[in-house]
Amino acid sequence: MPATNQAEATRSVFVTGLRNAHAMENQALSIMKPQVERIERYPDVEQRLRLHIDETEGQIQRLERILDDLGEDRSALKDTALSLGGAMAAIGHTFAPDEILKNSFANFAFENYEIAAYKSLIALAQDSYADSLSLLQETLDEELEMADWLDRNMQAVTRKFTDLKASGDQPKM
Ligand code: MG
Ligand code: FE
Repeated sequence: MPATNQAEATRSVFVTGLRNAHAMENQALSIMKPQVERIERYPDVEQRLRLHIDETEGQIQRLERILDDLGEDRSALKDTALSLGGAMAAIGHTFAPDEILKNSFANFAFENYEIAAYKSLIALAQDSYADSLSLLQETLDEELEMADWLDRNMQAVTRKFTDLKASGDQPKM
């Protein structure tokens, strides 16, 4: 492929990826925010989600900064309800007796979707958009840490859910 076509294709895939990531992060907020309002009995999960909500707001700002630096119009970022591969995470688990478990699975799946998306953006940035690399890497590191936390907490949250059930407690989140 001629060099210009290559450069155009890279830019197009990169910009589309950034816009999709922006929509993905807004979806992440719409998944996490209702959860923290409902959680009562899993304060460590609530605390970690609150931290990641703050991180996610910063991630959105990073994406906007990268798009601004590329001279891309942000008004087009009305986050058209994209059908994301991570849509499984948007399934409403509200009022399922095992809501805390289903949310834990969905959150883990969503973080891994985000990890894949940022690895793809970083691959594109490495070739042609080195200025955005450190911003994308900061976000990727946050996603990796969140996925790792959810991974490590799966056992504890499952045990706590089982203990609450054994004590005859209502299966509240
Ligand atoms: Mg994120
Ligand atoms: Fe995330």
